[in-house]
Amino acid sequence: MNKYIERVLAETKAKNAQEPEFLQTVEEVLSSLEPVIDQHPEYEEAALLERMIEPERVIEFRVVWEDDNHKPHVNRGYRVQYNSAIGPFKGGLRFHPSVNLSVVKFLGFEQTFKDSLTGLPMGGAKGGSDFDPRGKSDREIMRFCQAFMHGLWQFIGPEVDCPAGDLGVGGREIGYLYGEYRRIKCMSENVALSGKGLSFGGSLVRPEATGFGAVYYLESVLQHENDTIKGKTIACSGFGNVCWGICTKAAQLGAKVVTLSGPDGYVYDPDGVCTKEKIDFLLEMRASGHDKVQDYADKFGCQFVAGEKPWGVKADIIMPAATQNDVNMEQAKKIVANGIKYYIEVANMPTTNDALRYLMDQKNMVVAPSKAVNAGGVSVSGLEMSQNQEHLCWTAEEVDTKLRQIMKNIHDSSAAAAERYGLGYNLVAGANIVGFQKVADAMMAQGWV
Ligand code: GLU
Repeated sequence: MNKYIERVLAETKAKNAQEPEFLQTVEEVLSSLEPVIDQHPEYEEAALLERMIEPERVIEFRVVWEDDNHKPHVNRGYRVQYNSAIGPFKGGLRFHPSVNLSVVKFLGFEQTFKDSLTGLPMGGAKGGSDFDPRGKSDREIMRFCQAFMHGLWQFIGPEVDCPAGDLGVGGREIGYLYGEYRRIKCMSENVALSGKGLSFGGSLVRPEATGFGAVYYLESVLQHENDTIKGKTIACSGFGNVCWGICTKAAQLGAKVVTLSGPDGYVYDPDGVCTKEKIDFLLEMRASGHDKVQDYADKFGCQFVAGEKPWGVKADIIMPAATQNDVNMEQAKKIVANGIKYYIEVANMPTTNDALRYLMDQKNMVVAPSKAVNAGGVSVSGLEMSQNQEHLCWTAEEVDTKLRQIMKNIHDSSAAAAERYGLGYNLVAGANIVGFQKVADAMMAQGWV
């Protein structure tokens, strides 16, 4: 291992011992950067990696909201503004009980590389709260979003930071967050948030963008392997917005998603989540707030396996699209034993580091990293910002064409970078290198900040 990387990793571990998710992602990213760091001794002199690892700003705030029984509740809100060297901070907000500083830092660090990879001028940030939206009424969600924005508004804005959705934050929440932002600021400043409703500056294709983008990226991988998406079966985890987009686009292109998963287990639908009725039902399931995937099996009469993940199922392609650390070593072994060729990460850091290494070491397996595969969401957020800034409203076709092109560029530039450093078709290292290089160049040019 490169001595500089080794030292920085050791220092990061010592400094952030209480933040396992954050350490996991730093380790994964830095281990990919070895050939680049080897060629640039000036980075060490400029303490570039140390600066990249330290967020520019961490905001932590109290969120007090009232439930329907007039009882007060206190949650913790976060925004980690990681790196704005190449553009204003950009990244989602996550509302989930698992949210803590380690999780938000890991997501913000990943976001910096992801946003850079899109080729758009966006820095990286992430935020959220340990608030659990499950079982909350619409009014409670609204009051929570308003209270959350009270803690956040002064740190965001056009040219500053533009948050969007993530787990637990969809169109409804963005609407409430933006309404409160506009009320406080007394102005219609809609570039301050993305993922908005169509009537107040939202972009067509934003809800579909992460799932569509993931399938476009997959198409590039298949093309590289002289293969085609037609007739392929895909094992997915999760059943939220991203899965919905994957199911929709896969069905359009003649492939089928055969598994979905939730906290309760997974469903196996060998006919595929392909019909409009089935795909629409995903939205219904999500909106119901039950957070159970068994509802799908009950409705469509297919197999439900309680308490398990779908990684033992035979399929052509694996797409973990739920949340972090969804695939560990034991599950990775099942995937390899099933002879699966394509492992396409979708959720942020869905694979533990040991499992990821193991999968990458398989000769006949192509592994694609989430920071590239799921970059379609933030890309269309970037396109939403451009439309807002220029008072434009692009058609769905225009946005979709741009999204497809961005995803192709991400794949092709990652593949080319890995090739350039003699790493072969290594999309994981390639994405880290491309994402890193642009931010590194900007930081080197801007002096010791
Ligand atoms: N949460 C999504 C992501 O991780 C979207 C972020 C955004 O649109 O700003 O990329």
